[in-house]
Amino acid sequence: MLIKQVVIENAAKRQDVRVTNGKFVAIADSLTPIADEQVIDATGKLMLPPFVDPHVHLDATLTAGQPEWNESGTLFDGIRIWGERKQTLSHEDVKKRAIQALKLQAAHGLQFVRSHVDVTDPDLVALKALLEVREEAKPWMTLQLVAFPQEGILSFPNGKELMTQAAEMGVDALGAIPHFEFTREYSVDSLHFVFDLAKKYHLLVDAHTDEIDDPASRGLETLATLALETGLKERVTASHTTAMGSYNDAYVSKLMRLLKMADINFVANPLINMYLGGRFDTYPKRRGLTRVKELDQEGLNVAFGEDDIQDPWYPMGNGNMMDVLHMGLHATQIMGYTEIMNSYRFITKQGARTMQVIDNYGIEVGKSANFLIFNADNWYNTLNERAELLYSVHEGHILVETEPANTQVHLPK
Ligand SMILES: [Zn+2]
Repeated sequence: MLIKQVVIENAAKRQDVRVTNGKFVAIADSLTPIADEQVIDATGKLMLPPFVDPHVHLDATLTAGQPEWNESGTLFDGIRIWGERKQTLSHEDVKKRAIQALKLQAAHGLQFVRSHVDVTDPDLVALKALLEVREEAKPWMTLQLVAFPQEGILSFPNGKELMTQAAEMGVDALGAIPHFEFTREYSVDSLHFVFDLAKKYHLLVDAHTDEIDDPASRGLETLATLALETGLKERVTASHTTAMGSYNDAYVSKLMRLLKMADINFVANPLINMYLGGRFDTYPKRRGLTRVKELDQEGLNVAFGEDDIQDPWYPMGNGNMMDVLHMGLHATQIMGYTEIMNSYRFITKQGARTMQVIDNYGIEVGKSANFLIFNADNWYNTLNERAELLYSVHEGHILVETEPANTQVHLPK
């Protein structure tokens, strides 16, 4: 396959890209087609590495409205409605919805997804189903699974045993929920437990960390300290960290030193954090996001995730990371022109670093030929116009192909 005259990321010039046997084999100003080679004329169009969603919940996905819509939009009504829906959870039900959601994501250019799976279930119904989904989707989607203790590890009956069982069943990462544990002691102990388990089974760590507007929620400092002291460092991710948006500056300046030493990853989920954050505030009302701009400026790795796609906690979502990014840039005020131009990194390579798949990620000779081509000439125009995804190619196979729409606007001159 030969792709002619694409603009690779923010490159100043157009180039030709050759793909053979699922790998990038040549990138040059001009390459001549060889016999029987498929040629894609992409003159002047933007080529990016695939989108990455490092944080979604595929077990609850596409259940919004079942058995009722969350009309109040509160977390508590979400938990109540999910409690009812959970009664009817079955293996086939989880599998069908997860694959449907993954296909929505694939249609929007996602090729790497990390899903949390609730393991506070004595039968581990959702985990068993998603382990099968991970295998079935392999030809078109790299799916990682995180054992997510929604109701706590020490605060839920047999929480430790369920996490251990999940580790033995082959999850990719271990989660935690320190801010939800009954006490601060449980919070700290739960993280120690998770790091011990991660070391034993050679797993990544990705904890829902301080997803609350309470400035006293300080699970992050324990997570970062353990990441540093165990040496797991970049194999560790702190998801949400929304309490950091409420910490005082003196504490953050002290914390930042530790975070840099620990070199962990951060995932913010702008759609959900904006929607659920600040719920207990009157006015002024907080935005409920972590300090994305400051973490990024300090050189820490921050990615954006979608978190929920049409479930009891969030009524919307269609698998399009451009919506996630668009909200994220507004909410965190990362909107200088240069910042917007470079912002695709939050939903591409920084997510790939979080997922630890970066070694074989990116448009470079020798790497797997995974890429997207958009119907626009740069990222600013792609994001602003929600430009059509002309191609999503995975290991040399076309997964998505779009015929551009031809809209006629009949308005007076
Ligand atoms: Zn989450």
